[in-house]
Amino acid sequence: MAAQVVHATICRGCWEQLHLPIALRGPLSAPFRVFGIKPSGMNPNICTLCETMFELVMKRKAIEIEATILFADIRGYTTLSQAMEPAALSQLLNFFYDECATAVWSYDGLLNKTIGDSILAIFNFPLRHAAHTGRALSAARDIQERCHERCRKELAGYGLDQSELGIGIGIDCGTMTFGEFGTTHTELTAVGQVVNRASRLQSVAAPGEILLSDKAWAALDPPDTALQRREVVLKGYAGPQVAYAC
Ligand SMILES: [Zn+2]
Repeated sequence: MAAQVVHATICRGCWEQLHLPIALRGPLSAPFRVFGIKPSGMNPNICTLCETMFELVMKRKAIEIEATILFADIRGYTTLSQAMEPAALSQLLNFFYDECATAVWSYDGLLNKTIGDSILAIFNFPLRHAAHTGRALSAARDIQERCHERCRKELAGYGLDQSELGIGIGIDCGTMTFGEFGTTHTELTAVGQVVNRASRLQSVAAPGEILLSDKAWAALDPPDTALQRREVVLKGYAGPQVAYAC
């Protein structure tokens, strides 16, 4: 079963880091809303004040974080985008973003970016969990479960067969830089090798598949015996890389 969605009543970021009860929902949230403090668009369990603090801290300087990156995308999107009506296509994207958001937030991840037919999620920031890689994997499985039926049923008939339809997911973990990048258009996001590898893994994942880097696999505690070892060729990497699939 897909995870239940229950959003926090008070901001988890403010509570865990500052021990400040900032009401996000219910009657107690009214005075906060007057000051523009409301649930963040990247994670409804933290507040816009948390977001602003991150942005202020990072305006000048990016910080290093230990986190897990999850990339997910819709396989066959280029073909679909040519065959589908614009309305149906945007409906598909909305559905995908919504299901990803629900899954990512259920495991305390940050839905950092939606880029065309893919999403980038970060786990262990700003809400911390020692088992952040395991949480990313759980979110990935949740995304697959949520999207499976719809991908198979509703995306058939657009020139792709069943085996070409589904979501591909890549996961990697480690140290990365989080900050505000760009000069004309600035964006608050994570960069580094971990982000790059997760993106590359996602691009070689089969429809319906989740691919973890060997490092992400080793970080799972307890180990996950359902994952299968495989060698994959990733663009920009010399020689085959070890990955684990499910
Ligand atoms: Zn907050």
